[in-house]
Amino acid sequence: MKVAVFSAKPYDEDYLLRANHSCHEFVFHSETLTPETVILAQGSTVVCCFVNDQLTAAVLKVLASYGVKLIVLRCSGFNQVDIPAAKKWGICVARVPEYSPHAVAEHALALILMLNRHLHRAYNRVRENDYSLNGLLGFDLVNKTVAVIGTGKIGQVFANIMLGLGCKVIAYDPSPAPALLAKGVVFCELQGVWPQADIISLHCPLMPQTKHVINSGSIAHMKPGVMLINTGRGGLVDTPAVIVGLKNKTIGYLGLDVYEEEAELFFEDYSDQLLQDDTFARLLTFPNVVITGHQAFFTHEALTAISEITLANIHYFESGELQKVLCVE
Ligand code: NAD
Repeated sequence: MKVAVFSAKPYDEDYLLRANHSCHEFVFHSETLTPETVILAQGSTVVCCFVNDQLTAAVLKVLASYGVKLIVLRCSGFNQVDIPAAKKWGICVARVPEYSPHAVAEHALALILMLNRHLHRAYNRVRENDYSLNGLLGFDLVNKTVAVIGTGKIGQVFANIMLGLGCKVIAYDPSPAPALLAKGVVFCELQGVWPQADIISLHCPLMPQTKHVINSGSIAHMKPGVMLINTGRGGLVDTPAVIVGLKNKTIGYLGLDVYEEEAELFFEDYSDQLLQDDTFARLLTFPNVVITGHQAFFTHEALTAISEITLANIHYFESGELQKVLCVE
């Protein structure tokens, strides 16, 4: 099958071709899928997309007119896809529901340790021959209360990591994970989570019910100095409200791997250009904010699994074994 790959980076090409074994014809496009770039999919039966590709109703209609039958997402989240429109146009949407929950959970831990021990500042100090410790005071993680919002595959790995560090873990999920309940994780409603948590980590999908789950109302109920970590999706957080929280010190630390307007920024090198996003620029001014550019998934194990599962989705679709295609419901 001919597969048009959008938002393709050299590493996507490398891992997908390795998993392909010359079975399918891959055409790699560095462009993000948009109404302007959709024409690049002409002649392909399969379109392979990533988190910031715009699979809107209008784009899906054009893809259907080109004869595209299958969209394979190289990610687990599918908030970028208009699923009812895909169904209407008879396009199957497959994803990679699980590749390495450890990759993302471990990145959340990396952000926590970096912020808590001020490693981003310490790294620069030592390089400048400055070994003073003023301003680098951290806190022990043991016995701290960590709130996990969303206890699916990633949230559960993250909760286990934090339990292993001796933290008290509380959680919110409409479907509490029995494995965590068995380990003594206390599930409570969101209103009950905010005042208890020293660290809050977001691991739920972006949906209408979770959009801006972190907002001025929830921040007002948080412990002063709370650490907020978001490796989920940018839209979970109302960024202007978080900036107010940072300024009035309700939020003591902020670690982000995702950002609501990241489609305009992430995955590209703009180092020779001026930053136009004033909200993002303001975030960068805080010494207690660490941002990574949606790299939590980016490990060898995860890229290997993403490519192999993507190829399996294409293979099962082509061979008519539709029950084995990991379709978005
Ligand atoms: P998952 O489907 O296994 O788990 C999601 C959990 O969220 C489920 O337990 C579900 O019950 C829960 N949930 C549903 N509605 C909720 C609500 N209103 N409030 C709280 N929890 C709710 O998904 P996963 O594999 O653990 O991934 C979680 C999210 O992480 C993905 O949706 C994706 O957005 C994000 N993610 C980010 C990266 C990255 O590189 N930063 C990589 C992979 C996934």
